[in-house]
Amino acid sequence: MGKKKRIKAPFIGTTTYFFCSKCYSPLLNAKCCLCNQKGVEFSISPPGDLYIAFEAYYNFIEKAVAKTIKVKLPRDFVYMLNKIPTRNKTAYEVYFLNKRLGVLFFDPFSREFVFKFDEFGLKFFLSILLLESSNDFDEIKKNIKYVSIDDNAKDKIAKGANILAPGIIEITDFREGDYVVVLHKNKIIALGKAKIDANEIRQRGVVLRNVFSATITINDLEKVAKSIKCIREAIKRLSRGIIFPTKSTLFLEEYNPWKYIPSEATNHLKVIITANRCILDRLAKDAISFIKRYLKEGAIVSFSGGKDSSCTLDLVIQAKIPFMVIFADTGLEFPETVAYVESVLQKIGGIFQLQSKINTIEIYKNKNAVIVRRNEKVFWTLAKHLGFPAMDFRWCCKACKFIPIRTALSKINFTNDRMIVGTRRYESFLRKRQKRVEFNRWTRTFNYHPIQEWSALAVWLYIFLRQIPTNPLYKLGFHRLGCWLCPSSEYLEISLLEELHPNLWRKLEEFFISILPNKAKDEIRKIIKSGIWRKTNESANIIPRKLDILDLIKS
Ligand SMILES: [Zn+2]
Repeated sequence: MGKKKRIKAPFIGTTTYFFCSKCYSPLLNAKCCLCNQKGVEFSISPPGDLYIAFEAYYNFIEKAVAKTIKVKLPRDFVYMLNKIPTRNKTAYEVYFLNKRLGVLFFDPFSREFVFKFDEFGLKFFLSILLLESSNDFDEIKKNIKYVSIDDNAKDKIAKGANILAPGIIEITDFREGDYVVVLHKNKIIALGKAKIDANEIRQRGVVLRNVFSATITINDLEKVAKSIKCIREAIKRLSRGIIFPTKSTLFLEEYNPWKYIPSEATNHLKVIITANRCILDRLAKDAISFIKRYLKEGAIVSFSGGKDSSCTLDLVIQAKIPFMVIFADTGLEFPETVAYVESVLQKIGGIFQLQSKINTIEIYKNKNAVIVRRNEKVFWTLAKHLGFPAMDFRWCCKACKFIPIRTALSKINFTNDRMIVGTRRYESFLRKRQKRVEFNRWTRTFNYHPIQEWSALAVWLYIFLRQIPTNPLYKLGFHRLGCWLCPSSEYLEISLLEELHPNLWRKLEEFFISILPNKAKDEIRKIIKSGIWRKTNESANIIPRKLDILDLIKS
């Protein structure tokens, strides 16, 4: 049997979800809203914030899987992701229904995706291959990387031994680090990770490290293929006639989240939403009544351009309280974020007019929203004096976001000490202990968190249910949205930045060149990609920082 290794994380979060095996849907609660049956529990690795894979991930997964199995990832299913902490890579658990297919890794240096299969993942992808070809093992073999081993080696490998050159009968072309299927006759007996390139194989030594031993026959694959067919039919049947009548007043076709998943996956997503509909309605009702109870006099709504704030804004509108939205443009926002935010805020309050300009801060206003824009130069000047911000050295939010917000709030004629913020407990370790109402001394506001208990999956399902317009960066593979140079960015996000906005990436490069004049350009590129600049201790000898200002900020 295949062993499932879970990567250890520093705390145990709520990691249990439910799954309705009749409606093929993950559930936010024990009972399915579509068939009324109790779901089965399934657990995922901490921090356990499951979310829906957007279009970019279908391609990422497919590309990574293709290094072992050349197969198209079926577009008619919804897959779930769970980002897990690892040291030098970005890693995502990939789920099909309630089963983990494997872990998708992104290596910032090679910029390649690698897919580490679970035993079920191996069966799943090979079954898809089987569905697409005739039920012939030789056909399958044409599309996979494998080594075929002899009778002597078989028993040892079944017990977990590595794959050595002498036992190999047949070999396909593979590269070091690839995951390779180990065959004995017409059976899959293990998954191995290549220790060397196929063309370098000598007589002795380990060729593949055994990842797990298994016994998968063509019969097993046929069974999985048959159940995939059944699931397809069931989803088609279950999705018939589902419509969602409550479209958000924020709706904008251009930012319609349904466009961010493959159109073939629409039916499955409709079923999943309906299976969770009663829970989503209850969560929304609770959030709306929380807003009504405490904020009927009115409140400022903090808007960041991320999914949580889009969801929160939709709830505030439904609560029908007087409100004023505020978006702080730090000067370091993605152009996509700025365009998206402006569209949404214009929808609720019309065209923006410049209201005032105070030094480096510009305040724009429409009927229901304020955009406060800090000149980007402030950040670069401070970065030069204090040192580049890091996860544990975050002066940037205070300087470029909170202080401008405070300035803007003092200039607008509106209740300004109560603010609605879309933060969630699941988001980070720090936010686990956050209260539903708390004081922020930087913006000098009492912050209310109506969706604090929502998981990412709940937020996404609600966004789809109401067709709330969503930041287009999600479609491209971004998971956490912030400033484009945010030290909390993932390796994948840093890499996407370079692809998407080479001019912004160059700004980062030029900055590091200016503070590290003795380093070669190549070395600087390496520093940026390695992500070490995101933590003070990891870059202590490289990037100068005035760490003592942290005490100043704290005081
Ligand atoms: Zn159900």
